[in-house]
Amino acid sequence: MTLTDAELERYSRQLVMPEWSGAAQERLRSARAMVIGAGALGCPAATYLVAAGIGRIGVVDDDEVELSNLHRQPLHLTPDVGARKAENAMVKLGFLNPEVVVEPFPARLEDLNAEALLTGADVVVDCSDSFATRYLVNDTCCSLGIPLVEAGVLGLFGLVLSIRPGESACYRCAFPVEPPAGSVPSCREAGVLGAIGGVLGSLQALEAIKLLTGVGEPLCDRVLQFEGATAAPTVIATRRRADCPACCDLVRPAPAAAATPERV
Ligand SMILES: [Zn+2]
Repeated sequence: MTLTDAELERYSRQLVMPEWSGAAQERLRSARAMVIGAGALGCPAATYLVAAGIGRIGVVDDDEVELSNLHRQPLHLTPDVGARKAENAMVKLGFLNPEVVVEPFPARLEDLNAEALLTGADVVVDCSDSFATRYLVNDTCCSLGIPLVEAGVLGLFGLVLSIRPGESACYRCAFPVEPPAGSVPSCREAGVLGAIGGVLGSLQALEAIKLLTGVGEPLCDRVLQFEGATAAPTVIATRRRADCPACCDLVRPAPAAAATPERV
């Protein structure tokens, strides 16, 4: 598998990076991502995955574009009000990079369809806007063994975490107590600045690219919190919980100590 002349030109500014390579580009091209939600996080996340040359991407969203979405969801433009978000995202992403196969899923991810929707993905990027969906995506990715990038935004604040099931802390390990429904205000109630979605959604694309290509070090066992008011990032270490109902039965890697020369 080699890159075409058009691909060499399209991706020339990342191919020239010392950290990147033709092999990394080909790994990205052979990968399939599923993006849950085509909103404030999903628009930038899908945009940068498609622009970078992911091979296939599915976009799951059952909403329609509303005027009040446009300040933070830049794949959806004023003439798109009333369109299905998943299908509109497919059109816009197709304009951006026709080399990528974009699959729209105009559905709400829920218990009955989560496994079917996520099976076959090489990475899942969770850009959903509810805690119930976030825990469901986490649990499904753990049971299917699919790497996952979680994020959330509200107001001027956001966080992001990468997960390799069975190797690093899952979302439920990091946040074991699911907030009761209605206890945390939604974007509709508390508001959100569009650029915060841009920051965190772009970080999700970066994390997914790192997980897929092996380039860089994903935010596994680390939660990155970003306070937009001061532009202050904080990285908080987390780790797997032995009693985590989502991932405790998954195989743990051999302890690092077993591989040290002293123990051989
Ligand atoms: Zn866990």
